[in-house]
Amino acid sequence: MSLLGVDLAVTWHAGVRRGSTASEPPIQVHHASDDLVILRQSLAVSYEAPFLYLLFGADRALLFDSGATLDAERFPLRHTVDELINGWLARHPRDGYGLVIAHSHAHSDHVAADPQFADRAATEIVGHDASDVAQFFEIADWPTSPGSIDLGGRVIRVVAIPGHEPSSIALYDEQTGLLLTGDTVYPGRLYVRDFPAFAASIERLRDFADAHPVTAILGAHIEMSTRAKRDFPLGSTWHPHEASLPMTVGQLRAISDATAGVAGKPGAYRFADFAIYNGPSRGAIARELVRLAWWKLLGR
Ligand SMILES: [Zn+2]
Repeated sequence: MSLLGVDLAVTWHAGVRRGSTASEPPIQVHHASDDLVILRQSLAVSYEAPFLYLLFGADRALLFDSGATLDAERFPLRHTVDELINGWLARHPRDGYGLVIAHSHAHSDHVAADPQFADRAATEIVGHDASDVAQFFEIADWPTSPGSIDLGGRVIRVVAIPGHEPSSIALYDEQTGLLLTGDTVYPGRLYVRDFPAFAASIERLRDFADAHPVTAILGAHIEMSTRAKRDFPLGSTWHPHEASLPMTVGQLRAISDATAGVAGKPGAYRFADFAIYNGPSRGAIARELVRLAWWKLLGR
């Protein structure tokens, strides 16, 4: 798949089978374009295996999320990002270059490595509360009004999408048409904590996608397999045949329709390309633990 010079055709590492040792690097680095790097934390380091995005502008880069692990030995994010920025600066020499670290939301699998950057020069780390996020991106009226950040000739639009978590945001990159949606829209289990907020956020995203050219929607995890309605068990570190990371505006509309369909009905619901967990769904989580135990018994 090639979208405006962005290469999203990646085979992501499948993680580690039970009983075997990890042979994949702790971070998989994919150069989607000269100005966009997609990083994925290895399933062998964390079953969450989040995706992180590094976008380069003329004046500064933006890292969207810092992963699930603080320990730099096991998860050398700072080292990796420094090398990527140094490489970019070697190709695009300039004096002074900043880094902004922002987050799709404040859950620990998206902010854990922030402290690795604490002493980094010319680096701003956005705070974790909705008020911090609103202030940084100049969102006047959270969550309904838009925000933005200019990385230098590259404007990133910010859409507030609370519901999975109170500080959730999506980023829209005008340069590529990519919409980065964190844990709100991705091929996996969409955990809804505040249903009315989530439903409104999905509508906000849908309206945004109707008003802007969206080339692909990229979330922060993959939990679905290539088989419809079939996800990997929660906690599994082996993901053979994952669904593809990019989603379409059509799939966003399907999530929007599904969300409307489960309003007022707590529980876990599976759809072809995603699942919606409306509320705590204790029964569904217990079922996941049984599935994981079975998955491991099968040697996966
Ligand atoms: Zn997450």
